Amino acid sequence: MICSQVQRQLAVYLRGAMEVADRRALECHLSGCEECAGYLFQSTYVNGGRVQMRDSEAPSESLGRSIRA
Ligand SMILES: [Zn+2]
Repeated sequence: MICSQVQRQLAVYLRGAMEVADRRALECHLSGCEECAGYLFQSTYVNGGRVQMRDSEAPSESLGRSIRA
């Protein structure tokens, strides 16, 4: 999967409307690609408004964890 593909599909991913296999491929890419992970963070932050962010927890850290989970 290449970055432009991943970034195009993030909207679908965020809606939870993605096939499991595609979703896995996307998550796999995200875990190894800072650019796309940052893109995902931006998207969730903008669309969702309230990404779970706790006091001292750095956003990028919690993102990394949620992707691997
Ligand atoms: Zn990428």
